[in-house]
Amino acid sequence: MSDLRQIPSVDQLLSHPHTEQLLARFGHAWTTAAIREVLADLRASFDPTQALPLKEDLVSAVKARLEEEAKPTLRPVINASGVLLHTNLGRAPLSQAALLAMKNAAEGYSTLEFDLETGKRAKRDVHAAALLTHLTGAEDALVVNNNAGAILLALSALTNRRKVAISRSNLVEIGGGFRIPDVMKQSGAKLLEVGTTNRTHLADYARAIEEGASALLYAHQSNFKILGFTSEPTLQELAGLAHDHALPLLVDLGSGSLVDTTRYGLAHEPTVQEVLASGADLVCFSGDKLLGGPQSGILLGSKDLLAKVRKHALYRALRADKLCLAALWATLMAYHTGNYENEIPLYQMLARDLADLQAQAAAWQMRLGRGSTLAGLSTIGGGSLPGETLPTWLLALTVRSPTAFLKRLRQSNPPVIARIENRKVVLDPRTVLPGQEADLLNTLNLLVKDEE
Ligand SMILES: *Cc1c(COP(=O)(O)O)cnc(C)c1O
Repeated sequence: MSDLRQIPSVDQLLSHPHTEQLLARFGHAWTTAAIREVLADLRASFDPTQALPLKEDLVSAVKARLEEEAKPTLRPVINASGVLLHTNLGRAPLSQAALLAMKNAAEGYSTLEFDLETGKRAKRDVHAAALLTHLTGAEDALVVNNNAGAILLALSALTNRRKVAISRSNLVEIGGGFRIPDVMKQSGAKLLEVGTTNRTHLADYARAIEEGASALLYAHQSNFKILGFTSEPTLQELAGLAHDHALPLLVDLGSGSLVDTTRYGLAHEPTVQEVLASGADLVCFSGDKLLGGPQSGILLGSKDLLAKVRKHALYRALRADKLCLAALWATLMAYHTGNYENEIPLYQMLARDLADLQAQAAAWQMRLGRGSTLAGLSTIGGGSLPGETLPTWLLALTVRSPTAFLKRLRQSNPPVIARIENRKVVLDPRTVLPGQEADLLNTLNLLVKDEE
């Protein structure tokens, strides 16, 4: 038998010796609030036929509550989905060199906008610009927060509210509410749609120039394909036409690879270098797609155009921060040394050997004593290489309820993201980072035991 009056007071729990470390970790106000909540729960579920919990058990409950509340909402997850550039999971994981560069820049002061030679103010653009121009052949480079920002900035700075010609096949929606026509409108540029969804000819662009287009815009169809009766001019042709009329050709390349993707058995994605060589005057792309670096929008092009972009008020609002610039520099360095396949996680994943993936899936199966291995497909994701897949090997688990199992995986620590294929839960070793394998197997071990 127990009595409501035997429930300890807030002060009694606050002065309990085990509470001391909680006060040090979580502070007085937060700890007190958690104690009140635990005591309120206890009162609400009070049952006089049951013994009251010990004070130390109540403090343990307070600790569990505080720890749960202190968990960051932005947490690392194990990506076993096989989607390499998963936008919802943060796209490209960074290289060790990029992480170190970010740490060094974050820890203290840096030469972000400081010239050590003169002791005067310098531009933050210089940090990534030298490598970007060297690697791509562009005259100049500028880095902003993301590619959507890069397009908005370029159009705002270069089109002066005049007309911009774009093919109807290029009026793309990238996801997350980003639509090329909306961004054009936001920049003040007037959309001049040319051609049709499936076929646009050079003559269509020429007509748009007669109607007063001040620039031609080409947007890469990052996340879809148009098949069948299709046609569009080459970038060389577009650049030629634009230049004949002293107008710029602007290209939104989306994923922007520096490397020929056919090396990994994928379709050919026009590289940044190729697009520049074809005569585009300004190219922009994301830093965290096929480049495998930090979230950023990279603008490459002629000195003239980029000088105008740099002067625009929006540049100040969209510019990249020091952590991004540090990580981008280190990522680009891996291309400069030719070591990107060893250093950049995205390329490590792309370059994985199929036999090796099969052996890894088989090792997981052995370790769990359950499931089977299955040939499957990894996808690139992140609005890159639509429909392109890479052969992989999967661990496939037959479970009572695949959706319930996926949920339990998501609720594990760290959370695991898997997928369902033919009513089986499948996990792709390609996107599981080497340092996460032990955690993954522990989680799977616990969950499959409950299935028995
Ligand atoms: C991904 C993408 C964008 C948006 O880039 P963010 O870096 O996500 O802002 C814009 N245009 C194209 C063609 C893309 O593929």
